[in-house]
Amino acid sequence: MSSTLQTIRFGPHRILTSQIFFTSKLSYGLVNLKPIARGHVLVVPKRLVPRFADLTPDEVSDLFLSTQTIGRVIEKHFLGEALTMAIQDGPAAGQTVPHCHVHIIPRRFRDWANNDDIYAELDHTKVDNEARTPRSEEDMAAEADQLRPLFDQYQDC
Ligand code: AMP
Repeated sequence: MSSTLQTIRFGPHRILTSQIFFTSKLSYGLVNLKPIARGHVLVVPKRLVPRFADLTPDEVSDLFLSTQTIGRVIEKHFLGEALTMAIQDGPAAGQTVPHCHVHIIPRRFRDWANNDDIYAELDHTKVDNEARTPRSEEDMAAEADQLRPLFDQYQDC
């Protein structure tokens, strides 16, 4: 029997659509395989391009409007007081997946001892990302199921 699992590209990875909680015309929101905090999600352009400079104006607009919408909802849902939003734009900046994406991470006062330590945590050259245990597909799908209804009014498809 052949499998008909739906997938979408994230760099070299095939992402199960069960792990996607938001879609717009040109972008999607993905739960994280190795989050550095609760609610750490990714916003990704549907077209596979490595760098922010590769995006068209329409894609930049859609990616940032999606980031704004997702950030607003995620901050509230995870009881954040702020957000860190980051793009590691190229390997020299710490990018490990060569498909442009925005990290959104809910923040609270004193969640990291030194506020900017979060950037070391994001950077695989400073924190051993390989040592982090990846979440299971079931775990990621369960989180996406929980988040998806929060975006009903924004969904493109
Ligand atoms: P960066 O190092 O800025 O390129 O970020 C890559 C992000 O993608 C990290 O937060 C990883 O945990 C995450 N990641 C890598 N592979 C997957 C995957 N298959 N599904 C979801 N997130 C992933």
